[in-house]
Amino acid sequence: MHRAGFDLYSKVLDIVENDSWLWPRAWLDLFPVLINIQPPIIQAHVEDSFVWRHHDGVEFDHAASIVWDTLRARNDRVPWVDLVWFANCIPKHAFLLWLVCKRKLKTQDKLRQWDVRGATNLNLLCCSLCQSGPDSHDHLFFECSYAMQVWSIIRPLADIHTSSFKIGDIMEGLLSIPNKNSVRSIIGRLLLAASSYFIWQERNARLFNSTRRLADKLGEIIVSTVRLKLASLKIKRPMTGVSLLDKWRLPMT
Ligand SMILES: [Zn+2]
Repeated sequence: MHRAGFDLYSKVLDIVENDSWLWPRAWLDLFPVLINIQPPIIQAHVEDSFVWRHHDGVEFDHAASIVWDTLRARNDRVPWVDLVWFANCIPKHAFLLWLVCKRKLKTQDKLRQWDVRGATNLNLLCCSLCQSGPDSHDHLFFECSYAMQVWSIIRPLADIHTSSFKIGDIMEGLLSIPNKNSVRSIIGRLLLAASSYFIWQERNARLFNSTRRLADKLGEIIVSTVRLKLASLKIKRPMTGVSLLDKWRLPMT
């Protein structure tokens, strides 16, 4: 800026004349993007101000959050985003479910790939919940016999009637609920995340602390955690008919 003859007090008006830009010649070679920027309409008695153009072209007042949102790397929206992240989610459960969706948990089938010596004790790769299946994402959520028992306790409370214990099928079922703000959708999503969270917690407890809880007990913990969350929400009860909420025996206003 200094080399081109500008200083901190230069104004936009200094590089606009007769509604055209007066960019320094060297800048047009360095920043070809300048050629396509429309010159501003200069209004008398209006102060210059900073604006930030978002990636979709909309201009905002300059704010760090908008700058970050423009500059951050972004991928295509994944179909399960609303299933994991929603206004009423329990953040630590949502975070764990997000890791499950991304297959980023440090399960032992993954750790084995890092073992360059190939001398892994195969007994240690076993699922700590059932001692027979592999310690992997597909097995833990929820094809493991222990996880199946837990999910069988949970799913009637979410009105889920699919017989599959694959998390992909369960997620697909939840995503097909037309209204994602409905009681059924909210309860289903809370229960899926809570079940994943507590099953992973139980897997770790057995692996590292040698403590164990029965599937019934884990089911109870999941239900009471989600019930506590539901009690804090303002959910409209349908005027007629039997509601899924009746199964939860929540105090209703
Ligand atoms: Zn298992």
